[in-house]
Amino acid sequence: MEKKMSLSQNSPARLNTLFAKRTQKMKASEIRELLKLLDQPDIISFAGGIPDPAYFPRVAFEQAMLKATSEQAAGVALQYSTSEGYTPLRDWIVDYMGRHGVSCTRDNILITAGSQQALDYLGKLFLDPNDTALVAWPTYMGALGAFNAYEPRYDRFDPQANRPIEDITADAEAAGGRVKFVYLSSDFANPTGVTLTEDQRLTVLKRAEALGCAVIEDAAYQELRYQGEEVKPMLALEIEQKGSIEECRTIYLGSFSKTLAPGLRVGWAVAAKPVIQQMVLTKQAADLQTATINQIAVNEVARGVFNEHVATLREVYGARLNAMLAALERHMPEGVEWTRPEGGMFVWVTLPKGMGGAELLVKALEAKVAFVPGGAFYADGSHTNTLRLNFSMSPAAKIEEGIARLGDVIRAQM
Ligand code: PMP
Repeated sequence: MEKKMSLSQNSPARLNTLFAKRTQKMKASEIRELLKLLDQPDIISFAGGIPDPAYFPRVAFEQAMLKATSEQAAGVALQYSTSEGYTPLRDWIVDYMGRHGVSCTRDNILITAGSQQALDYLGKLFLDPNDTALVAWPTYMGALGAFNAYEPRYDRFDPQANRPIEDITADAEAAGGRVKFVYLSSDFANPTGVTLTEDQRLTVLKRAEALGCAVIEDAAYQELRYQGEEVKPMLALEIEQKGSIEECRTIYLGSFSKTLAPGLRVGWAVAAKPVIQQMVLTKQAADLQTATINQIAVNEVARGVFNEHVATLREVYGARLNAMLAALERHMPEGVEWTRPEGGMFVWVTLPKGMGGAELLVKALEAKVAFVPGGAFYADGSHTNTLRLNFSMSPAAKIEEGIARLGDVIRAQM
């Protein structure tokens, strides 16, 4: 007689034995786990990486949503829509990209559910298991999370290093795949706050050309510049070289999360048409489209208040960045180093060798201050003597108090 599995063997909990191998690469995000700990009101948190909700353009969204759900408009706003995205919003993005030196048409644009979705789609599009993704060291851990499901190998990409292209290719082949793309944040990177200079961007393009791979340019923080001059996106520089976006290997990812509101989940990808068309097919299979009403509301608000709203954010966050840099200067002991970004949401701190960010966090939480330990931003988990500080969420006085507490905790560990 055939042996039957008992009910307990067959219980839902056992379904995890059936999960695909790729799930072993999916780890809980350290940030999300951390954020759960931070509900206590007396903790000054430099963890997280989110906009200050006090500065959401709430009234503009209220009006836009009311308009979208009016009797005349609801039939469109509450209906299915195209996978490519809401046409008026794609047209606003065409103009926006044009102002940043990227000449394109609406057919070069796909609206995504945040740029995070575009990262997932690009992993799906490009990565076979054991293919190589070149990433900065450290890099945005959400990108690693998105790519991990496609089982790539990571290799360090440093535009300043002169590592021979043949070595990078040989290592990729030895691992059983090919170099498929370089993933980089061009402005105010998460987690370091560092911006690539124009020379570095040109070097990235040159090296990608030699490697024959794509460039994924994550521009999530591009608008949040508080000092200094804008540097053209890599896609703009590549179009200057090649004459047309259709000849370009750069895929640019934009987002309304940092400028308007992350809760709506609206971002976009800009690339040569064949790439966008393949991403559209991916989207059709994954979620059909980005929420119609959210795209309509974002279009309305972007056309209404984008520039003035971003100007407000620059003023508020710029003052907070200055407060954090000044507080670090005042309170950090000798041997601690940090970046001096011109925008974005983060300052990156390097602790003296041997001091671990994760261990420091335990002590810091006792002193009621929090941050994200830096190891999780390295594809190989190295450089654990680092930490990321967010400044967008705290007013200047809190920043001063929190950095003073952190300085004391670090000094006590030395
Ligand atoms: N890229 C970077 C560098 C980010 O920091 C984030 C958000 N933390 C994202 C992409 C994803 O943003 P969203 O999906 O909200 O556009």
